[in-house]
Amino acid sequence: MSDKAGKHFDLATQGRICVLCPNMCRYLCPVAAVEKSETTSPRGKATLALGLGRGEVAFSEGEAAALYHCATCKICREWCPSNVDLPEVTRELRERAAREGLAPPAVRNLAERLVRDRSLHGPAAALAAEGLSRYRQLVSPGAKVLYFAGCSTATLQPRVVAATLRLFEAAGVKVARLQTEECCGLPLDVLGFREEAAAFARGLAAAVEAGGYQTVVSGCPMCTQVMKDRYPALGVTLGADVRHVTEYFAGLAEEGALGGPAGKRDTGNPRAAGDAPSDTGPPAGAGTYHDPCYLGRYQGVYDPPRRLLTGVAGLALVEMERHGELAACCGGAFTTDTVRPGTATSLASRRIEEAGRTGAGTLVTACPHCLEMLGPAGADRGIAVCDITEVLAERLGVLPRRSA
Ligand code: SF4
Ligand code: SF4
Repeated sequence: MSDKAGKHFDLATQGRICVLCPNMCRYLCPVAAVEKSETTSPRGKATLALGLGRGEVAFSEGEAAALYHCATCKICREWCPSNVDLPEVTRELRERAAREGLAPPAVRNLAERLVRDRSLHGPAAALAAEGLSRYRQLVSPGAKVLYFAGCSTATLQPRVVAATLRLFEAAGVKVARLQTEECCGLPLDVLGFREEAAAFARGLAAAVEAGGYQTVVSGCPMCTQVMKDRYPALGVTLGADVRHVTEYFAGLAEEGALGGPAGKRDTGNPRAAGDAPSDTGPPAGAGTYHDPCYLGRYQGVYDPPRRLLTGVAGLALVEMERHGELAACCGGAFTTDTVRPGTATSLASRRIEEAGRTGAGTLVTACPHCLEMLGPAGADRGIAVCDITEVLAERLGVLPRRSA
């Protein structure tokens, strides 16, 4: 493991640094905030790493369970003055837990199901047939750009798939889809099943090579993050550029290919709710944007979605108090949702409350897992939650508006 300067920074060293710290990051850790437990705070997990490293703690199912009380949101990494990489510490220990059969039953069950079905939401082969026939008119076999929807978007968010394909069409970009799109491998990697994740990565790399694709575009930040950052760590080379849809479409907008000249100008009024108090509140129709952890903190993609929302969609953007690098997690990461569904739901409610404080009636995000978590929480509070591709496609008139 290396720190930001590339210096070797082993597990025990990270644990030693962390246990000497005032532990202020626990106030930012969303899991610690909800569960109110020192054991599952960032430092609690680092203390476990130190104890295991020194051989002072026996690794059991109980200890292993604490490692899965982490949303992998990475906000502790933003805060940490000592540059401790808690998500990476957690990942390494989860790999040990998985190897030694100590991962919680819910995690083992999810991993087994994924390896068997090749998708999160049912057998991949069965899902592929339906998806391919539904969008046949919008894909071009032989195209060099591969649209990889991701299994959660493909199964749970067909409107997002349609919006994305129509945006490609509007921009004049021909895209292909795989005959059978399998999971990208991220859930297995995050849960500690490294070898199984690597097998999925090798499968996708072979499909990309066989199709001769030059670019892979996905609207799921977890898919793009694992392809960009984790495939190399797993020893797999994906022979194509990887872009999240917001990066890709922002590039097209800059070229004037998406929404014409509007793609080059900001027409909105981005404002941080906490920074600029207003007597009048946000303008009618204002929206706020939730930065998905895996798009923002993991990939550093903060500006492209905002440029698209203000420049192409003409949205009056009102920022939540915690946005950008310090955006709060929605609870949609696999560990929280799988192992601690109650914690995940609380995180979603807190995030929607924060959105509500901006006065905006719409919350836009750019991740199917955020949509799944924030949608129901938003419905409870009268806040419409939608994907950025839906907003753009509606604005460009290539997707019917949602009925209110
Ligand atoms: S992760 Fe960093 S900020 Fe948090 S307790 Fe450890 S050393 Fe301190
Ligand atoms: S990654 Fe997020 S949930 Fe996990 S310890 Fe850090 S702040 Fe807490």
